[in-house]
Amino acid sequence: MRVRHKPWAKNKLKQHSDIVIVSPAYCSGEWYDVFGREAPLHVEIGAGKGQFIVGMAQKYPDYDFIGIELNESIIVSALQKCLDAKVGNVRLIRADARGLTDFFAEDEVDAIYLNFSDPWPKKRHEKRRLTYSSFLARYEYVLKNNGVINLKTDNQGFFEYSLESLSAYGFTLRNISLDLHRSDFKDNVLTEYEEKFSEKGQPIYRCEAVCHE
Ligand code: SAM
Repeated sequence: MRVRHKPWAKNKLKQHSDIVIVSPAYCSGEWYDVFGREAPLHVEIGAGKGQFIVGMAQKYPDYDFIGIELNESIIVSALQKCLDAKVGNVRLIRADARGLTDFFAEDEVDAIYLNFSDPWPKKRHEKRRLTYSSFLARYEYVLKNNGVINLKTDNQGFFEYSLESLSAYGFTLRNISLDLHRSDFKDNVLTEYEEKFSEKGQPIYRCEAVCHE
């Protein structure tokens, strides 16, 4: 995602430390305390500008959502969407998803979303893909038994790689769609990238991967 550097972003994130959690490792195992209730915990990795997570939070008010995003200048747009929508069930973490097992305790998370993750097509960058085995190990650790990874992408190569990687790791694949917008899947919430790609007529790939311990 190409994005203009926003020098004011850091300050704005700091001003809203009730939404943008500064020290997520301190919340590990106790996210219910941050949200002030016990509710299913859903985490989006690479949340971008927040359209999906805010849309999900509005659609599912009984769930709690956490968006993790590396880039300060991008996550600040997600923060603005949370403020505009006045959603109380979203928190944001400005960090690399490599820290996932510091942010969440074992079996704390009910679902993970990987939406239009950077495909890193070159073999030498394989370890950066969010479905590389070292990331899957982190997801397996934080996910409950029968927790689900929900993946969407426009990139066929990344999709095929992810199916193989998830399956080889031991996740059970289900609800695989090669053209989500022409499938009978009802509950889709669009991401920014999804909107852009589907307007161009590109098919969207989707799958769910169930975690077993
Ligand atoms: N999910 C959004 C969507 O569908 O519109 C954004 C997709 S964009 C292609 C991928 C996003 O993932 C970027 O905003 C990038 O900064 C973020 N990202 C990439 N690697 C990450 C990582 N290791 N940890 C956290 N965020 C990451």
